[in-house]
Amino acid sequence: MFDVAIVGAGILGLAHAYHLARAGKKVVVFERSAKAEGASIRNFGMLWPIGQPLGERYETALRSREHWLHVLGEAGIWHEQTGSLHLAYADDEAAVLQEFSFPNTLWLSAAQVHEKTRGIRSKNLQGALWSPTEICVDPREVIATLPAFLTERYGVTFHFGTTVFGYSHPGLSTSAGAFQSAQLIVCSGHELAMLYPAALAEHALTLCKLQMMRTTPQPGNWRLGPMLAAGLTLAHYESFQSCPSLAALKARLHAEYAEYERYGIHVLVSQNGHGELTLGDSHEYDQEISIFNNEQIDTLVLNYLATFLEAPHCQIASRWQGFYLKHKTQPWLIAHPEDHVTLVTGVGGAGLTLSFGLAERVTKELIET
Ligand SMILES: Cc1cc2nc3c(=O)[nH]c(=O)nc-3n(C[C@H](O)[C@H](O)[C@H](O)COP(=O)(O)OP(=O)(O)OC[C@H]3O[C@@H](n4cnc5c(N)ncnc54)[C@H](O)[C@@H]3O)c2cc1C
Repeated sequence: MFDVAIVGAGILGLAHAYHLARAGKKVVVFERSAKAEGASIRNFGMLWPIGQPLGERYETALRSREHWLHVLGEAGIWHEQTGSLHLAYADDEAAVLQEFSFPNTLWLSAAQVHEKTRGIRSKNLQGALWSPTEICVDPREVIATLPAFLTERYGVTFHFGTTVFGYSHPGLSTSAGAFQSAQLIVCSGHELAMLYPAALAEHALTLCKLQMMRTTPQPGNWRLGPMLAAGLTLAHYESFQSCPSLAALKARLHAEYAEYERYGIHVLVSQNGHGELTLGDSHEYDQEISIFNNEQIDTLVLNYLATFLEAPHCQIASRWQGFYLKHKTQPWLIAHPEDHVTLVTGVGGAGLTLSFGLAERVTKELIET
């Protein structure tokens, strides 16, 4: 008999397992695939507190960051405290960034920006908002390494290649047979339909598809430095909504970048420990989603990228798509569809950033009982 069974070995499942096992609970994780291949392995690897509005979400992101640093250090996983730069190439972008009031951030002149990174274009650069808080991880390494670490350090049991079909307290039905657990936490990412289909309709969740690319390693140990965002991102993240100049910037972007708006494109860049640049992304929702990738989206991303990135090359080595569920009005969904069951999903594009902080909140009650 386990204290807690977890569905999904994506980052939310792993973060819940970490907190529970550290507190002495007997934890088992079931992952349908031979290794988790959902959103958690398909992202930029950006731990990105600056994308969270001040208040509960930002506090959760910072708490998460502390846990991340602890876990990454303990497990010996590559990471880099790169910080981030939001680049301004137009007056209206500079105006928004200069109005933006956020802890630890600093407006840098164009000359100061060039001291932080050698990877950007100088032409028309007005300056950038520097934030030291963001951390880059390699999602493939994190998702591959953490399960073994959690087993060795904290005694978590993993069953990979095992699908959970259903739960009737305390019985768990899986493709590897029956198990027993006092509690179930479902961290199945966007795949809620199999276990708790009603939650999809009940809880205002929207499905989002994103297109991503990765370059081959940059030559000669070339490093990007801070992770980069630019003008389009200012219209994307809620954090910037309090800036009075945002409306004017959005109006210009709407006029000049209609195709980008249509596909929800804003452009971010990170660089992993192998020197590869991870590039993206787009946002298509619900009925807009096609299983086929749209080449036009990748072209738009690369064209916008060329307006600010000056890397040795952008030779694309791989392209993929990812999916997540996003709650339409709340930062995440924590629901109890029946006794002893907790669903945690709907974190949208911030699941990596929020994971350990959110899991700490969810597991607090279970640990105390
Ligand atoms: C392209 C992309 C880029 C992103 N970039 C970032 C970023 O840079 N920073 C950031 O903070 N966030 C980012 N995100 C968001 C973040 O990746 C997600 O919010 C987060 O990974 C969600 O984690 P999860 O564990 O809930 O889901 P997932 O990683 O999807 O894991 C769910 C797991 O559950 C398993 N599963 C489902 N059903 C069952 C079942 N019945 N039985 C057994 N197993 C089951 C699946 O196989 C899967 O492995 C990005 C997302 C995408 C798609």
